[in-house]
Amino acid sequence: MVDAGHWAERSRQAVWHPCTQMKVHERFPPRAIVSAQGPWLTDDQGHRILDAVSSWWVNLFGHGFAPITEAITDQLGRVDHIMLAGLTHPPVVELSERLAALTGLGHAFYASDGASATEIALKMSAHSWRNRGLAGKNQFIGLQGGYHGETAGALSVTDIPLFREAYAPLLRLSATLPSPDPRHAASGVSAQAHTQHCIAALAAYLAEHHAHTAALILEPLVQGAAGMAMHAPEYLVAARRLCDQHQVHWIADEIAVGFGRTGTLFAHQQALRSDGSVAKPDFLCLSKGITGGVLPLSVVLTTDEVYAAFYDDRTAHGFLHSHSYTGNALACRAALAVLDTFAARDADGLDVLARNRVSAARLTELAQPLNAHPRVKASRHIGMIWAWDVDVSEPTFAARFHRAAMDEGLLLRPIGSTLYFMPPYTLTAQDQAHLVAGSLRVLDRVLAECDALATSPDGPALNMA
Ligand SMILES: *Cc1c(COP(=O)(O)O)cnc(C)c1O
Repeated sequence: MVDAGHWAERSRQAVWHPCTQMKVHERFPPRAIVSAQGPWLTDDQGHRILDAVSSWWVNLFGHGFAPITEAITDQLGRVDHIMLAGLTHPPVVELSERLAALTGLGHAFYASDGASATEIALKMSAHSWRNRGLAGKNQFIGLQGGYHGETAGALSVTDIPLFREAYAPLLRLSATLPSPDPRHAASGVSAQAHTQHCIAALAAYLAEHHAHTAALILEPLVQGAAGMAMHAPEYLVAARRLCDQHQVHWIADEIAVGFGRTGTLFAHQQALRSDGSVAKPDFLCLSKGITGGVLPLSVVLTTDEVYAAFYDDRTAHGFLHSHSYTGNALACRAALAVLDTFAARDADGLDVLARNRVSAARLTELAQPLNAHPRVKASRHIGMIWAWDVDVSEPTFAARFHRAAMDEGLLLRPIGSTLYFMPPYTLTAQDQAHLVAGSLRVLDRVLAECDALATSPDGPALNMA
């Protein structure tokens, strides 16, 4: 075996890393992580790094969380993986029943990652209209800045130009409607008026295009990849009403915001009508946190009505989509352990969501110096997500911050000029203090670097990282 320090170099030679310009690794090699326990990662040099982005938003209860490890280990001795066409197994049945009880969406279709869940929801929506004699309803609408994954179908409803541009000729682009994120409000327009403006834009679009529109897809409450853009639940209530009015499906992409991230088990559960009822989507896409961040699994939950559109004697009216690992038994057991964890109460009678409220209040308090930082233009928080827009124009800010944070023992990856925390739910007060103090030091150091670049005679171009 080669020295531990050589993992990074071997990785650079053999592994094509995701979302990465590999040439950057010539100068900044990837970190090799050899152990992960709780929120802490340890690299092959013995450095400890706090996983403050939950390993790309998937981890809920820290790494090596015993209830998940035990559930998977137990399942390994029973059924590891079997195909789900023509066969079934207890974990997938139990998981589907429990998700149905939690969401009121009684039909669960499985895949292994978020993008596949998006594909399934899009295909299922259009196919269900076709089965109902409305084949013309096959276009989709997304929101400005929306992100739904990077396979061709998912990318066609994703509005992140950097991810989409090179593939535009391969995609059948959807319509993009204004985001209710109040930062997009015209000057002098209040957040509330902006929400109403976006609702009116959706109403006008649907009135004109409903006959060709299958579904509206959006990330409820928080558009993650847009830079933790947040919006008011009123928008979701209105979207539900307008979709009903125009016979258009609403696909809620809770791949990132599901499982307690926004303070409720599912984000759309904060979309309350005036009578207190929840504005429920027609399709709910879940992944990321569903297994606590341990195994790949995704699911699309849908209504009796959609299900009924496929239930027929004709094979071609069925939903014939499949993935090899659909309903993987180990992943389903991990998901059941996650649901058990949410259902359990600790010695003080608190469940996960209640403990998160206590923990979030503490981190919000600790993070006050970030809100008050002279270079922070805007800050926002919901549930277990915090974000700060930094006043910096240097395009390498995010990459520089990420590297400097690593040296401080923090895994953080700003999006553009937005710094955010999306940590596992189990940080101690000490972990939180480390996170805030380290972030402040990194912010000042990186801003000084960026400011120096902006004023250097060579300009920033020579220093692109
Ligand atoms: C991560 C994410 C996806 C894609 O999930 P993958 O597992 O990366 O394919 C889709 N939608 C949202 C909102 C996401 O955050």
